[in-house]
Amino acid sequence: MISKVLIANRGEIALRVLRACKELGIATVAVHSTADADAMHVRLADESVCIGPPPSRESYLNIHQIVAACEITGADAVHPGYGFLSENAKFAEILDAHGITFIGPTAEHIRIMGDKITAKQTAQELGIPVVPGSDGEVKPENALEIARKIGFPVLIKATAGGGGRGMKVAKTEADLEEAVSTARSEALAAFGNDAVYMEKYLGKPRHIEIQVVGDGMGNAVHLGERDCSLQRRHQKVWEEANSPALNVEQRMKIGQICADAMKKLKYRGAGTVEFLYENGEFYFIEMNTRLQVEHPITEAITGIDLVHEQIRVASGAGLSVTQEEIVFSGHAIECRINAEDPRTFVPSPGTITHFHAPGGLGVRVDSGAYAGYKIPPYYDSLIGKLIVHGRTRVECMMRLRRVLDEFVVDGIKTTLPLFQDLVANQDIANGDYDIHWLENYLASTTDA
Ligand code: ADP
Repeated sequence: MISKVLIANRGEIALRVLRACKELGIATVAVHSTADADAMHVRLADESVCIGPPPSRESYLNIHQIVAACEITGADAVHPGYGFLSENAKFAEILDAHGITFIGPTAEHIRIMGDKITAKQTAQELGIPVVPGSDGEVKPENALEIARKIGFPVLIKATAGGGGRGMKVAKTEADLEEAVSTARSEALAAFGNDAVYMEKYLGKPRHIEIQVVGDGMGNAVHLGERDCSLQRRHQKVWEEANSPALNVEQRMKIGQICADAMKKLKYRGAGTVEFLYENGEFYFIEMNTRLQVEHPITEAITGIDLVHEQIRVASGAGLSVTQEEIVFSGHAIECRINAEDPRTFVPSPGTITHFHAPGGLGVRVDSGAYAGYKIPPYYDSLIGKLIVHGRTRVECMMRLRRVLDEFVVDGIKTTLPLFQDLVANQDIANGDYDIHWLENYLASTTDA
């Protein structure tokens, strides 16, 4: 059994994991950079260790320092949160070699899903529907032949991709050469690997993802879907569960396909199978082998604590639920509160002078922020997540409108005003949006 967890992360997700550990009676160790000495996750943990200076590479990504912190404190497990080392197969292997439990999948599964071509091939073998595309890597010399076979428009994507980098659309044959060469050079610059592949470009898809959890012994369940179509520059902004686009039959069918695939893979831990969804069809794009930022909306509609499940399966205790026991109830929406200008999205670090989180039935705020907190400029700008649950989507939207009015963050700019606009928008109210909707909306309201 796991008795002490070192949380190799910061911000709201470090707090999130800490809360789950406390509920399970597990001791916690926070690690932090010198810039985060005053952070809430450090204050609430049983012990804390400073692991380096502000830059992530020297602190939150510093494997040696984190392993040393485990040894100093006697932590027998590490929860990586999301981002940082959460999808680093080498980190999982090094912990393993030190006899420390990595709360996540096996290094092998992280590696398979971390390479997009291998991930896609594996998904296909496991019976998951994928986007039509090249079978493997695309080179400048065979690009035209492959693109003609797939049919224009096509999308060139980096094998090592992430965050939408190294991705280029070629609408026609005339665009292809440039799209391939730009994607390759962007991929090389961002990931040190210029390998690219090709997919059919879907025009107006939704982004719908399935939450799965496996016990590593051949049992796995799905916890339904999340609709994360509202994105800006491939970054999710607003997520909801269930998707306004799916009915129960579609949900259970795609969910079961993913759960069955995870059983075959003997997947251990929480994971997300991401799809584009268009005209009633699902197309796999990637699998994330970790907890995701938007996991709380799934928790809201299922009542299942995903971090509890992660810890259970990592310690070999198995899943706490069977598929039949998972009941979907109501609707949930998450808004990502970023310390950014709500129009230009320019980061707005600084000191929060006043902080009032909303409350009431069906409201959850996951945040490490407080009045007097100084947001360091070194990390991402997410300062909190607002999650609202209601019995129906309409009730959830009404509650969200009320809650956004209550939320006060002074001293810095935040994206809260953007959500006030979205919650009042007719397309959003109708659930009528695709992955381009938000960018188009922002462009149209900025020009006006
Ligand atoms: P990354 O890992 O870089 O985020 P993904 O494969 O997850 O890359 O894709 C990110 C986003 O890019 C998707 O959410 C979607 O908006 C867009 N996208 C990816 N593949 C396609 C495709 N074949 N057609 C249209 N849009 C796509």
